[in-house]
Amino acid sequence: MAVALAWRRASPRIATLRAARPDDPERGGPITERAARELVEVVGQRKLFQRLMPGMMHAAIFWGFVVLLPTIAEAAVAVVDRGAHLPLIGDSTWFAWLVDLFAVAVLAGVIIAISIRKVQRPDRFRGSHLEEADRILLMITAIVISLLLWQATRIALGLTDAEGPVSGWIAGFLDGASTGALEAAERVLVWAHLLLVLAFLVYLPGSKHLHIVTAAPNVWLRKSGPGGRLEPLRIDLEASEEDLRLGAAVATDLTRKQTLDLFSCTECGRCQDVCPAWATGKPLSPKLLVMDLRDHVAGTAGPVGEVELQPLVPNAVTDEVVWDCVTCGACVRECPVDIEHVDTIVDLRRNLVMAESRFPSEAGALLRGVEGPGENPWGQPASARMDWADGLDVRVLAPGDAAPDVLFWVGCAGAFDERAREATRSTVRLLQAAGVDVAVLGQRESCTGDPARRMGHEFLFQTLAERNVSTLNDAGVTTIVASCAHCFNTLANEYPDYGGTYEVVHHSEFLARLVREGGLHPSRDSVAVTYHDACYLGRHNGNYDSPRDVLRATTDEIAEMPRNRERSFCCGAGGARFWMEEGGDARINDTRYAEAASTGADVVATACPFCLVMLDDASGAAGRGPEVADVATLLARSALRDG
Ligand code: SF4
Ligand code: SF4
Repeated sequence: MAVALAWRRASPRIATLRAARPDDPERGGPITERAARELVEVVGQRKLFQRLMPGMMHAAIFWGFVVLLPTIAEAAVAVVDRGAHLPLIGDSTWFAWLVDLFAVAVLAGVIIAISIRKVQRPDRFRGSHLEEADRILLMITAIVISLLLWQATRIALGLTDAEGPVSGWIAGFLDGASTGALEAAERVLVWAHLLLVLAFLVYLPGSKHLHIVTAAPNVWLRKSGPGGRLEPLRIDLEASEEDLRLGAAVATDLTRKQTLDLFSCTECGRCQDVCPAWATGKPLSPKLLVMDLRDHVAGTAGPVGEVELQPLVPNAVTDEVVWDCVTCGACVRECPVDIEHVDTIVDLRRNLVMAESRFPSEAGALLRGVEGPGENPWGQPASARMDWADGLDVRVLAPGDAAPDVLFWVGCAGAFDERAREATRSTVRLLQAAGVDVAVLGQRESCTGDPARRMGHEFLFQTLAERNVSTLNDAGVTTIVASCAHCFNTLANEYPDYGGTYEVVHHSEFLARLVREGGLHPSRDSVAVTYHDACYLGRHNGNYDSPRDVLRATTDEIAEMPRNRERSFCCGAGGARFWMEEGGDARINDTRYAEAASTGADVVATACPFCLVMLDDASGAAGRGPEVADVATLLARSALRDG
């Protein structure tokens, strides 16, 4: 009956999953990679151990329940025949010890969980269903205590010789009890234990604890490869209006993975804790986004096909929530069950932008600029693309020219923003000083399409990607150096989907290599520097060391910010937010700049023009504080003594 009831409660969610769009079967990577992920993330609880105490809490409960699973079967057998045991483990002392030790571990885990929720980090759980979580913890406690007490009565009755340390100790208190009383207690406890387990089973499908079932498949389906790559949206303009899918408008537009994400959320708030939008008082919380989408999808989907589906935006989440995201990926990295918030948010944006032309008005300038003749978000003419190179002898690759060893991808920020141009010039001068055969595309370079794609204009992105790939392939380019983290990510991870496969190297990595191999000879000074990790170089592409290697060649003193490397805090520019107005209580760039200044450093080093401009803006707003400079600029100051 319990299984039937659980199935009945689960069926609306199963129907929703079945109605969802299939995923690209390749997205999770090869089976060996997926299996390794299961081992490390599910069995090994890797993401939970990123923070020791919560990690130990969850591992105690998770591993405890895995070990205690056979005791459910033992109880199911014992309600029919009190003297029966499971073969091999049922009456063995080693298993009795294991059960007792893990039962205590589960109880300790429950106490830590309560203290984290109620005392240590209540903020993380703002908006979570706390009563439900309390109910679950109570159930877990009751299940474990009833198990220990039941085992104690069995020991006292002589039904088993296998004594665990805790159940044996409790049995000692039952010495004087009559056999009749013990037998009655044993019956009550075994039934109580089993009924609690079955009640848990029935409760599970409609609760956040469904993650104990969905987490493993969700980890299995997680996108393989660099987190910065968005999956292409196949746009079939020949399709009928009904079949044309432009992002996610309603519940059934979500993919199976996106839907499974919603049913896997544990409401733990780890994502909310690290989200720069939430931290600066904006309505977006990745946790609440997932919960709101889940409640909407679960509410409208059963039975699928019989209810009129309402648009996800603004019925489940508001427009503001969707536009607040800087696509920094901090939430995805923290999430213990591998929920991919960014992909879903971009899919929601795709529908708003391409199907409804609905986006913050300021972003219109970005789109007009990229769609215009200059093909850049600054709306500058193509003829201004090489203005940064005034006074430098830079080779511009003309059609038919021999390919250079290295093509330097300038990027629109590096070409048009006054402050970012300094880093562009420094990079080229350093490459030339090291004798690298380098050239640029000049006016033939256009926006990579990163901001258009993150904003949801997939069609525009694909047009730009195809054009740039064609130019690069025609020029015979094999190696690209990019000083913009966003261009780097798009060229390296997204252009292969459009036929452009190159060795793409971030300028910090290339410069670090030149220093290491003796091509550049910087001298160190004692200027204190702190480094701001760009999300699209660090968290999305795993490069934390190259910029630091460059800095180590120029200074003896690198001061790390409290949030650094994979836990870095965004500058506020990603996800096309660079071009949008910012609401909330504080600006993300100001918050980050204040953190950088708190290190006491003289210079905040960056490795992306967008980070540079955002933090420089914050520096201007602060009126005083450390200078903001790209790692290439700092290296040029130190290695190129000609100024
Ligand atoms: S990607 Fe960054 S800004 Fe967007 S929801 Fe996640 S943590 Fe928040
Ligand atoms: S999305 Fe992930 S990190 Fe955020 S609350 Fe849900 S389970 Fe926790």
